[in-house]
Amino acid sequence: MPLASSTLTSVTQWEDWQWQVDNRITNASELEKWVTLTVEEKRAIHFSQGKFLFSLTPYWASLMDPTDFMCPIRRQAIPLDEEFRTSLQEVQDWSSEGVRLSGGRFTHFYPDRAVLSLQDQCILYCRFCPQRKVLSKDRQSSLEWEEIIHYLKDHPQINEIILSGGEPLLLKEEELEEALSQLKSVPSIKTLRIESRALSFLPQRITPHLTKILREHQPLYFVNHVNHPREITTEFSNAAAQLGDSGIPLLANTVLLREINDKPPILAELFSQLIKLRIRPYRLIQMLPAQGTEHFRTTVSGGLRLIENLRGRLTGLALPEYVVDTGGGKVPLRYDSILSRNKKRLLLKNYEGKVFVYPEKVFTFSY
Ligand code: SF4
Repeated sequence: MPLASSTLTSVTQWEDWQWQVDNRITNASELEKWVTLTVEEKRAIHFSQGKFLFSLTPYWASLMDPTDFMCPIRRQAIPLDEEFRTSLQEVQDWSSEGVRLSGGRFTHFYPDRAVLSLQDQCILYCRFCPQRKVLSKDRQSSLEWEEIIHYLKDHPQINEIILSGGEPLLLKEEELEEALSQLKSVPSIKTLRIESRALSFLPQRITPHLTKILREHQPLYFVNHVNHPREITTEFSNAAAQLGDSGIPLLANTVLLREINDKPPILAELFSQLIKLRIRPYRLIQMLPAQGTEHFRTTVSGGLRLIENLRGRLTGLALPEYVVDTGGGKVPLRYDSILSRNKKRLLLKNYEGKVFVYPEKVFTFSY
């Protein structure tokens, strides 16, 4: 276990999730206890004040390469000058359409599911995420539970609630338990989905008490956002095993990021490691062109080629769906495997480029 350079940090403190949160690094001088910052990194951290949020756990800092500024762990957390450049393609407002309640913290967009942000904060602010923007002071801080529950009861077609960013697991156990119980008290809510980055940023958060609460609110799916094999540490693996052993289904979202994970061997290693930990890779996400994130964005054609390349290397179980985040829902993208089709047959291409004829089903009715 890597400990902070401060000799005052004990093993007990290091393994305490609340200590990790309370001691989050929020400026360059604290971060320099862990890594040698470049001039650009220092300048970008300074300029981000008041515009973009910046914080990371000591645990995440301990995973960084102290001298390589291209380290994938570093790049996800430390701003660069590009973050302050404007791209013609970036979009400022990604708020999706649909019904919004409780100051935008509850969104009903798809017919059968709704998204709820239990609180505003993230454990760490990913440099490629629109959520890192400093929020408006008018943003409502507490949830209007009565209004939300009333809406859910009035719309029984909603059967799934997605608890998404800010990080749901930053709530204390009793607050989370209360929130999950409120949602499950609505008869039409069948499943809950927690979208988290805790296994990567704060694996200490997966305590036996938290695991018990999650288990008691099944069916509950745990989707961890993980982008690089170096995030999969002993702590990550142990936390995943604890959840998996409790019968909580585990999935993973991965954001495709330029010069971080946009190479077939890196993604193949990540997805293979996840499968070994009983975490099913769920989606590979083509990111939103959010403000100041153009340096992380890959081309869609490159993403399609990557997925095609992985199709030949990995078991189907380890292969996520490639989707583009439009801000108005995730749209699946597939390489064009259908070369042609008519009423009688399809010409299909497999992962090696070999072409196969598949007969179309002809319906004949007899009475
Ligand atoms: S990607 Fe998730 S964890 Fe990272 S800043 Fe965005 S909402 Fe927070």
